[in-house]
Amino acid sequence: MGSEAAAAAIDLLRSAAPVLPDGDLLLTPREAPAAGLVLVDVSNGFCTVGAGNLAPVTPNKQIEKMVEESARLAKVFCERNWPVFAFLDTHYPDKPEPPFPPHCIVGSGEENFVPALEWLENDPNVTIRRKDCIDGYLAAFEKDGSNVFSDWIAKFQIKTVLVLGICTDYCVLDFASSTLAARNIGRVPPLEDIVIYSEGCATFDLPVEVARSIKGALAHPQDLMHHMGLYMAKSRGAKIVDRIILEE
Ligand SMILES: [Zn+2]
Repeated sequence: MGSEAAAAAIDLLRSAAPVLPDGDLLLTPREAPAAGLVLVDVSNGFCTVGAGNLAPVTPNKQIEKMVEESARLAKVFCERNWPVFAFLDTHYPDKPEPPFPPHCIVGSGEENFVPALEWLENDPNVTIRRKDCIDGYLAAFEKDGSNVFSDWIAKFQIKTVLVLGICTDYCVLDFASSTLAARNIGRVPPLEDIVIYSEGCATFDLPVEVARSIKGALAHPQDLMHHMGLYMAKSRGAKIVDRIILEE
């Protein structure tokens, strides 16, 4: 698909299956946290050029913007002592995750935060959950049946979570879908809303003309799939916002 055809396709998709934003998210300072921030996989293995099999091969504007927004909002949340929860995809070499090639292997550096977020590693305001599956909610279960994410929601009495990260149509979507389903059956009290910030999410780019030359590869045009990820999340009940307003 040439760039003109790709632009026409995204226009068609946006008009046939629009994702209208659910207004702005207003975060006002008050005693209880206005929201909890959830960061999904803002790690080298998915975001840093050349960092591994699932990392971008060239600089990518959508991914760069997502990292920038993640760093900006994480700083605001930590300054205001509002809780932050970060998932980091992390795998052991002897436990593959089909259909994906090896990625984010322990010790490779791919499994760690991007440089702009490295400071989160030691911030007491941040809860980090390393996960070895796409779905963060599922990955937050402990052997005893408790769930680290649900416990975090309960501990801080969070009613709204704001979600940023990568990939819009993989880990962000799966986390949102599972958490919304869990909310509906009373497993994550007092959570009410999952708000996905569209400008703070990104997905990878594998244009069809490139995918054709890779055996078994599934084409994944970035803008289309980012849109579809937001669309699917909204269809499951997530709110989508394209602007965050921070009141002083
Ligand atoms: Zn993985």
